[in-house]
Amino acid sequence: MKNLVLIGGGHSHAIALRLFGIYPLANDIQITLITDVTDAPYSGMLPGHILGHYSFKECHIDLVNLAKFSQANLVVDQAVNLDLANKQVLCQNHPPIDFDWLSIDIGSTPATSEIMGVDQYAIAAKPVPQFLTHWQQLLTSLESDRAIPTERPLRIGIVGGGAGGVELAFTIKSRIESILRSQGLSPMLLEIHLLHRQATLMTGYPAKVGKRFEQVLLDQGIYVHLRETVNLIKPDSDNQSEQYPLQTPKIIGCESGFTLQCDRIFWLTNATAPPWIRDSGLPTDQKGFILINNKLQSISHPHIFATGDIASSISHPSPKAGVFAVHQGKPLFRNLQRVSSGQPLVPFYPQKQHLSIIGTGYRTESSEKYLQAIVAWGGLCFGPSKLLWSWKESIDRQFIEQFRG
Ligand SMILES: Cc1cc2nc3c(=O)[nH]c(=O)nc-3n(C[C@H](O)[C@H](O)[C@H](O)COP(=O)(O)OP(=O)(O)OC[C@H]3O[C@@H](n4cnc5c(N)ncnc54)[C@H](O)[C@@H]3O)c2cc1C
Repeated sequence: MKNLVLIGGGHSHAIALRLFGIYPLANDIQITLITDVTDAPYSGMLPGHILGHYSFKECHIDLVNLAKFSQANLVVDQAVNLDLANKQVLCQNHPPIDFDWLSIDIGSTPATSEIMGVDQYAIAAKPVPQFLTHWQQLLTSLESDRAIPTERPLRIGIVGGGAGGVELAFTIKSRIESILRSQGLSPMLLEIHLLHRQATLMTGYPAKVGKRFEQVLLDQGIYVHLRETVNLIKPDSDNQSEQYPLQTPKIIGCESGFTLQCDRIFWLTNATAPPWIRDSGLPTDQKGFILINNKLQSISHPHIFATGDIASSISHPSPKAGVFAVHQGKPLFRNLQRVSSGQPLVPFYPQKQHLSIIGTGYRTESSEKYLQAIVAWGGLCFGPSKLLWSWKESIDRQFIEQFRG
């Protein structure tokens, strides 16, 4: 019996597993999925979930069902290292798992530990389950009206103005404003501040796109602080509030000397890789992401594959976004099929430009409330418009639907 082991239920692995269910491997190959969660979030629908538009189930892939469908062993555990010499995955709670071929799709997390106070006082956008727990707690406190301040605005800071941070700013604003309105309170009681290190938002996109998003954020009353590098987060000791837990304020400090008092801080800066990847001995880039060739293989270990955020392609570098992990799903499946049957692998060439559809939250017009989105394609931007949101919704629903049933 040979073993194909997949670590992480990321987007590429979800697609590959579904295809293994439809086109099974030879009988003497056992697939094992090691995942630390049983429900994998689909990034495209996450902002819609934060808005309250999609339920948890609607925007998550059930990995238990998917593993059953693909006849994979499911190991619910966290991989903590690799023993490359003995071809084993080391797990937190299970004995080592042998592999003949290995594929890694474990995503990334925002860099939090480099800056003082971030781990204690900010909410990282990933891992997603922890982020959603914090978000739910915030919603629960806001919905119990005692937690809503009336003497000064509730101030939310979002650090990191890439696509994720920009979309989160729109989303959080929309959701909290809806709660305020439902309680008969003014939306002016909310302030959203987006801090970004660079001169334009939307890292990895042309400056024109960043400028367009900046304008739409400003139009919505979101404060944008550009060229601000956060170097400290600490509690505001002068303003501890026992009465309103939400209002126990923190201070964001920046290298420029700029400071901002916030009630909640969301952290979405540079994506990083877990340290065990580098410790495993696989060659990585400077940030610790696995270096892969255009066949999605580790550049040193051809029986090890990596896709999604955790991979860094030497020939086709791409930003860390779910859309790339999705595009790599089918090519990964094909090459795993081929490597396990001794056939030559095929290269994968990602699209030069990708389409991004970013939700910009609710808009209310003559008592009609609807969602909007902006499309960015290369240097072009369209929207915000209701039609673009409908388009995004139909793409996302179609994607997630393939994992149902
Ligand atoms: C708020 C927010 C909004 C976003 N919106 C968008 C968007 O609209 N469009 C877009 O393209 N991108 C978006 N992104 C980025 C997107 O989430 C990531 O780029 C995408 O999820 C990466 O996919 P992946 O397959 O690499 O990994 P992930 O989707 O992160 O999946 C990795 C999986 O591996 C599991 N795992 C991790 N470590 C281990 C381990 N050691 N052992 C076992 N399992 C492990 C994780 O629990 C997770 O289930 C957003 C990100 C955030 C934070």
